[in-house]
Amino acid sequence: MANKITVGHVHMSGCTGCLVSLADNYEGLFTILDNYADLVYCLTLADARHIPKMDVALVEGSVCLQDECSVEEIKETRERAAVVVALGGCAAYGNITRFCRGGQWNQPQHEGFVPIGDVIDVDVYIPGCAPCPQQIRNVCVMAYLLLKGTPEQQALAKAYLAPLMALASEGSKATSSEACGCDIMTKVINQGLCMGCGTCAASCPVFAITMEEGKPNINRDMCIKCGACYAACPRAFFSFDVVNQYENILGIIDGAMNPGGN
Ligand code: SF4
Ligand code: SF4
Repeated sequence: MANKITVGHVHMSGCTGCLVSLADNYEGLFTILDNYADLVYCLTLADARHIPKMDVALVEGSVCLQDECSVEEIKETRERAAVVVALGGCAAYGNITRFCRGGQWNQPQHEGFVPIGDVIDVDVYIPGCAPCPQQIRNVCVMAYLLLKGTPEQQALAKAYLAPLMALASEGSKATSSEACGCDIMTKVINQGLCMGCGTCAASCPVFAITMEEGKPNINRDMCIKCGACYAACPRAFFSFDVVNQYENILGIIDGAMNPGGN
C-alpha cells in the first residue's frame, strides 16, 4: 500500500524483549505491515545497516555513555525520525541498566547507562518490562492515523497518544527520568489519590508490590525500576480526554485491525 508510514526498530542497550513483544501481536503484526507500516530498519529482522529517514522510530534499550557508537546512534535516530518512541522500561527509564556499575570484562569502563530521554528529546513513552503488545500495536496504528488519517481520526489519535506524550515529557526531565516503585508512593499514595485497586501490584513484572490492608507496599530490593506500576495506575495520569473517548478509540483500533471488515 503506497500510503503506509515508515517505522524502524532501533536496538540500543536492550534485551530484544521489546521487539518480541511487538511480534507477540501475531497476525495483528502482519495486518499492520500489510496495511499501515513498512518496517524500514530492524537489525534483528532485516539487512538495512544504516538508520534511514523514517516516520516512527521504536527505540529499545538505554544508552551506554561510554560507548561512543551508541551515543552517535541515538543522536542519529533523533535526526532521522519524525517521531521517537521510547519502547519499554529501559529506553524510557533505564530499568535494570540503572544497576550497572561497570567493572565487567571485557569493557570494564562501560558503567553509565541512561534512558534515551537523557540524551535526546523523546516524543512518546511505552513503559513496561516488557511493554504490552497491544499498546505497541495501538501506538503504531495511532501514529498511522495521525499522519495519514481523516481529521476525525487524527483527533482520536491525538487523544490516545497525549498521555504517553505527557509521560515522555515528564520522563525526559533529568530529575524524573528514573522510575521506581516509590513513584506510586510519592505521586499517588502520599497525594491521597490511591483507591486500593491493586493494578500496580498486578502490573509489576517482579512481584515487588503486595497489597497490605488495601494499600500497595513496595519491596525496593526487588524493584527493577521499570516504571510499569506508575504507568498502569488509574490515579497516576488519569486522562479524561482518553477515557471520555474510550469507545471511539477502541472502535477505531478494532476497525483498523480488521480492515476487511470480517
Ligand atoms: S515496583 Fe515493580 S512495576 Fe514498579 S517500577 Fe519497580 S519493578 Fe517496575
Ligand atoms: S494502581 Fe494506583 S490506585 Fe491502584 S492500588 Fe496501586 S497506587 Fe493505588
